[in-house]
Amino acid sequence: MKEDFYEILGVSKNASAAEIKKAYRKKALQYHPDKNPGDAKAEEMFKKSAEAYEVLSDPDKKAKYDQFGHAAFEGGGFGGGGMNMDDIFSQFGDIFGSAFGGGGFGGFGGFGGGQRRVKGSNLRIRVKLTLDEIANGVEKKVKVKRKIQAEGVTYKTCATCNGRGQVTKIQNTILGRMQTSATCSTCGGSGQILDGRPSGSDAQGLKIVEETVSINIPAGVEEGMQLKVPGKGNDAPGNGVPGDLLVAIETQEHPTLKREGDNLHYDLYISISEAILGTSKEIDAVGGKVRIKLEPGIQSGKILRLRGKGVSSLNGYGSGDLLVHVNVWTPKELNKEQRDFFERMQGNENFEPKPEKSDKSFFEKVKDMFS
Ligand SMILES: [Zn+2]
Repeated sequence: MKEDFYEILGVSKNASAAEIKKAYRKKALQYHPDKNPGDAKAEEMFKKSAEAYEVLSDPDKKAKYDQFGHAAFEGGGFGGGGMNMDDIFSQFGDIFGSAFGGGGFGGFGGFGGGQRRVKGSNLRIRVKLTLDEIANGVEKKVKVKRKIQAEGVTYKTCATCNGRGQVTKIQNTILGRMQTSATCSTCGGSGQILDGRPSGSDAQGLKIVEETVSINIPAGVEEGMQLKVPGKGNDAPGNGVPGDLLVAIETQEHPTLKREGDNLHYDLYISISEAILGTSKEIDAVGGKVRIKLEPGIQSGKILRLRGKGVSSLNGYGSGDLLVHVNVWTPKELNKEQRDFFERMQGNENFEPKPEKSDKSFFEKVKDMFS
């Protein structure tokens, strides 16, 4: 199959940066590995979408891509290809907001004076959240099994690379002498090797401990998003820095409230007599019940908007609304007295529909809701 980054993201060649970002956000959520466990095809699509976004979101790379086409990209012509999962998650920072993203992959962090510091591997967990927790944000305490440097462990400078973590090779090629550097295979790039190994620790001097980590989950998160708790992954050996704890968000469905972005929807059923006479009803909302008043003569299909009673926005600006959809329940069975009454009302002026401008049509309401 001939591949094309625009096709992968499902956007046209003229798509704006915002459209490209939006399309990628959708694909990333759709193919997220946490949503498709064990689905190799989804993982492949997840990676491809990330690669596509990596190129199309960068004006320089995009221009080259447009000029030279996909084949040039596959040849590694402009430094693309082969993104790993951690690269992809770190890209999420600008897609889902700064609270997200991986940052480190099991690579190197903290460059200083030519000395590389190896970074411990990341740990991944899932956290399942209720709508109440999502609506206002929550602090979750989770137990994590992480590797830490065992007590009494000692490391010494790696003799192969003299602590640099890198080895340099000079090669003669048809282009002349080329200098290449590679990660030192003796120390794995940390520049240090295990010297004193306490009992019960592994070959890197690490042992597994169970730790309680508290995670501040901001309001407004969505299924499939990932949070990073820096430094709560596995320790690195020697003077390395610990990896991160990556927290995948799972959401639990609420029995009566449906979420749509920051807004919530609630279906309220009332009887015909309640619609005619007016009533007050207790309805579900995040954080507990709220009582609402329905005016006499309320129409079925009316949407009541409770401002600010939705989910707090992830970017910190305000909250969504709670939209209460009023449904008038028509009885299916009537006794003789009731039947007689409604038969007498047939043709009665008060029972004739007289929609007014304020009784917006369904389509107008939908338009309002998304504006
Ligand atoms: Zn070394």
